[in-house]
Amino acid sequence: MTTVENGCGPTETPTDIDIDALRDKYRAEREKRLRKEGSKQYIETTGQYAGFAEADPHTPFVERDVIDTDIDVAVLGGGFAGLLCGAYLKKAGVEDVHIIEQGGDFGGVWYWNRYPGIQCDNESYCYVPLLEELDFIPSKKFADGAEIYQHCRNIGKHFGLYDGAIFSTQVRDLKWDDSINRWRISTNRGDDIRARFVVLASGSFNRPKLPGIPGIKEFVDAGGHIFHSSRWDYDYTGGDASGGLEKLADKKVALIGTGATGVQLVPFLGRDSQHLYVFQRTPSTVDERNNSPTDPEWAKNLQPGWQKERQRNFHSWTFEGMALGQPDLVCDFWTELGRNTAARVLALPDPASMTPEQFMGIREEEDYKLMERLRRRIEALVDDPDTAESLKPYYRFLCKRPCSNDDYLQTFNRPNVTLVDVSETKGVERITDKGLVANGQEFEVDCIIFASGFEITTEISRRYAIDTVEGRDGVSLYDNWAHGYRTLHGMTSRGFPNQFFTGFTQVGISANISANYELQGEHIAYIIAEALDRGATTVEPTEEAQAAWGATIRETAVDTSAFDAECTPGYYNNEGGGQGEDAGEGIRSHLGEPYGPGFYAFGELLREWRDKGDLDGLVLRT
Ligand code: NDP
Repeated sequence: MTTVENGCGPTETPTDIDIDALRDKYRAEREKRLRKEGSKQYIETTGQYAGFAEADPHTPFVERDVIDTDIDVAVLGGGFAGLLCGAYLKKAGVEDVHIIEQGGDFGGVWYWNRYPGIQCDNESYCYVPLLEELDFIPSKKFADGAEIYQHCRNIGKHFGLYDGAIFSTQVRDLKWDDSINRWRISTNRGDDIRARFVVLASGSFNRPKLPGIPGIKEFVDAGGHIFHSSRWDYDYTGGDASGGLEKLADKKVALIGTGATGVQLVPFLGRDSQHLYVFQRTPSTVDERNNSPTDPEWAKNLQPGWQKERQRNFHSWTFEGMALGQPDLVCDFWTELGRNTAARVLALPDPASMTPEQFMGIREEEDYKLMERLRRRIEALVDDPDTAESLKPYYRFLCKRPCSNDDYLQTFNRPNVTLVDVSETKGVERITDKGLVANGQEFEVDCIIFASGFEITTEISRRYAIDTVEGRDGVSLYDNWAHGYRTLHGMTSRGFPNQFFTGFTQVGISANISANYELQGEHIAYIIAEALDRGATTVEPTEEAQAAWGATIRETAVDTSAFDAECTPGYYNNEGGGQGEDAGEGIRSHLGEPYGPGFYAFGELLREWRDKGDLDGLVLRT
């Protein structure tokens, strides 16, 4: 079946564009925003800024006894990564599983992020995991945050993960103790937990980061209010995730950040604030949302295995570029470029003989046309031509995470909403005791909200937020990985016995983040269950197996550096890598060092490895 037969075909995009001129414009817009410090421009939420991340607005702090115990498995993190690992551990028969989580409940990003308007931006039928297993279907295509949070809690209940869960607790140090063959876990609560196995499952969006704008302290000291979007302060704003921020009616509010979070926030802040100033460095792409309630007839007729099939279909249309011969089941702004490219390919006299270069050329042209469609949409929706021009994204699709929203652009037509374009100065210049300075002008505000994102591609020590991770002989994991990951299958590392990793290390990557965690959870659970069954006290990769996997990663790597280097800075390309002497760590993909043949080939490789049953490349000691 072609996409058109499925009722989901290519879109109409402008053809009257000058690609060479646009290419130059993209480059100039990138250069304008590139900062020499790269990702080091951001402030960590530690020390005097710890309150931005550590305060939990959802669960009051309750004193508890110190935990002093021996356990089988500690999973560090209770979001999708930790929950899926926990679920597969239980399925594999491992009972003594304890999830340690900073928040007061399961949910991870869906626990912390409860800002007004929060919804899933990817189709929830793909994104929300274990739908078939829990017999649940989200109520709409892009589900509300509260519904996904509840689903996380349901996963916890379904698999008995609440038993033994340790909430409102932050791991401080993680040290391998050779004398007892266990990991010693110390926490901010003074605990001493000795775990036979440890799984690091902190996810990608666990640590808020702040833009390095001087003056935050001066603003707070003068009585200004300030918080990060992932720690929404409803006491201050009033209302809830569905809006009604009535306490902002007499407040001037500054929003810094126009990524996926900022785009969801603006319609609510614009409607309820006395005045909203949106400080924008780079505009997001914002397409129609077309959110729709789930059709009960469709849901009733879904066949077993449907979710994995849908995830695979979405993955093919986005990450693999297109999926000739398959319908586009998701059919939205994420898959449009693939559909338009496929239509062009099918119109070739002999599509089968197309070269990779031809394919990339067609896709690039379609990319320019698609982005032009999005820019013209802005002109049609935003009244003020200067504001419309500032809102136009000039970069390749997927340089930044695409967004969709039916109220965002129109909000800039409101008289109480001002867009402040800070691209010329590479960001807001300064914060003062009264407000913010941008383009030489001071904007007085009562409140500053940072929708400034998370530590996603910064150094691993910043991302894990664990002071010490020390393996055998006191070797630091951060030092061990200083020049790149060293793992077997992206999930275990030599010198760090009984320790497992989830996330974007050296793994095959799916376009569905939860599918990645599910695959990794299943594999890690298998190894831990086998080690326990075989009476092993330690399991870790051999030096040879780890080196061989590193070589496989390098040999199969798909080089995306040219694309990343042309992209406007952002977390997708490690803020463009920086430039000059003080530069950040260079261009680095937010996908880690992926296994080139892709997610499904990786899944197959792991399945075959497990089927052999000999734990090839791992050393088990009893
Ligand atoms: P992002 O990292 O995507 O955006 C941060 C924003 O802050 C950018 O607009 C950035 O501008 C801006 N910024 C940073 N420093 C400055 C500065 N000095 N002056 C002015 N502006 C500045 O964070 P988000 O929280 O929006 O999103 C992070 C990720 O979380 C998303 O990409 C997505 O993966 C996930 N997410 C998912 C959602 C969902 O599915 N519903 C919703 C929200 C988030 P610039 O672009 O120029 O760097």
